[in-house]
Amino acid sequence: MAPPSAEPPARPTGWSAPGPEGHILLEGVTKRFAALGWPALDNVDLSIPRGCFFTVIGPSGAGKSTLLRILAGLAAPDGGRVSIFGEPPRQASRAKHLGWVPQSPALLPWRTVAENVRLPLQVNRAARCEARDPEEILARVGLTHARNMLPSQLSGGMRQRVAIARAFAFLPRVLLMDEPFGALDEMTREHMAHLLLELWQADRPTVVFVTHSVAEAVLLSDRVAVLGQGRLSAPVEVDLGRPRPEGIEDSERFYQLTSSLRAQLRQAFLGAGG
Ligand code: ADP
Repeated sequence: MAPPSAEPPARPTGWSAPGPEGHILLEGVTKRFAALGWPALDNVDLSIPRGCFFTVIGPSGAGKSTLLRILAGLAAPDGGRVSIFGEPPRQASRAKHLGWVPQSPALLPWRTVAENVRLPLQVNRAARCEARDPEEILARVGLTHARNMLPSQLSGGMRQRVAIARAFAFLPRVLLMDEPFGALDEMTREHMAHLLLELWQADRPTVVFVTHSVAEAVLLSDRVAVLGQGRLSAPVEVDLGRPRPEGIEDSERFYQLTSSLRAQLRQAFLGAGG
């Protein structure tokens, strides 16, 4: 495993090929819960290169959130090893290298949109993390006009845009996203996926993304793996080019990739007793 000093000091800007394997590394990771008849995570091996957009899809109860919580340092595995650029997840989290976007945006209700976006920059000032200009990122997610509004005055899609702007504002090296568009309607969801692609492409943090949507996974990701009853499949490489060509969702290759992943997902669902 590479020591922390092996990580290049500068983060990538603009498009760059994914870095070497093992930026995020899981070896034989197992997690059990007493009430569950099988391991929530069963001997999971995974290697994600720096700058990779990696997506995990799987049925409900497959262990996706457990995997993300372990990567975030919020839960410890019962067996195996996890490292994020050579550090245990809790250390990476303490060093403010990790960003987290949950399904429901956790915005402070008494703070305006602009104040919510600025929050991690204020909290993390001592951690010497890099940061974007909050006003620039607000403009990029189309929320300049709403900068002085409170979360209660926003639609669900706008709230999620604030959460994503906030996550990108402090330029995390690794962004963990747990079904961030799960509660949105289809049109808003599609719009958010394209917005996320734009933001990600500018800075290329390593992303671990969880979704139920196969099309969303293929549109966004470099690699997609299926999790079924705690077991992770070999990742599928998404060879659709970056930036994604206009209209890629209507291409034959897009259709082939989504069909093959849907077949894997069906197997995982049947395996989970669905
Ligand atoms: P997913 O995100 O794929 O829906 P989860 O990771 O949330 O799945 O859960 C995987 C399995 O582990 C589920 O059966 C869930 O009920 C169980 N589980 C998750 N967290 C706990 C916990 N803290 N205590 C007991 N069981 C849990």
